[in-house]
Amino acid sequence: MSVCACEVHRFNAQHVDEGNQQRLRKVVSDVSKEIEKYYCRLELERDEFGAIEEVEQAECQCCGLKEDCTVVYIREVEKCFYGKWVCGLCSEAVKERVGKVGMQDALNSHRDFCQEYNDTTRLNPKLSLTLSMREIAKRSLENRNSKGLKLSRTISYP
Ligand SMILES: [Zn+2]
Repeated sequence: MSVCACEVHRFNAQHVDEGNQQRLRKVVSDVSKEIEKYYCRLELERDEFGAIEEVEQAECQCCGLKEDCTVVYIREVEKCFYGKWVCGLCSEAVKERVGKVGMQDALNSHRDFCQEYNDTTRLNPKLSLTLSMREIAKRSLENRNSKGLKLSRTISYP
């Protein structure tokens, strides 16, 4: 573009400058509007993540274990187990039983098993071991006696 100092050309150049500035101002305001929109979306997402990361203490309905879990995770587990929260270990045990009985029965039977364990083995492991040993000894004695009876009947001579 040739530089001309005459009045007409100077006026035109000034006019073009003003036009550019106006366009520039519009672009800047558009950009700030966009940025504002992104900020709003960011705030919303942060709120959603806040709900996802909200932590509550859940108690296992079978063994009584307490665990800090996210609310979303608690609800997911409850959906699988008829509105009851069960810990990871118990949920595996319940899932194994579900094949043989229904979910409700599997939950109840595992809860009974856990309660019995908590009332005996957990409170007094040594006593529980002793009781188990006594039970095994009793059964093996009964077994031996019944076999012995059969044996004595077959072997005994008049
Ligand atoms: Zn449990």
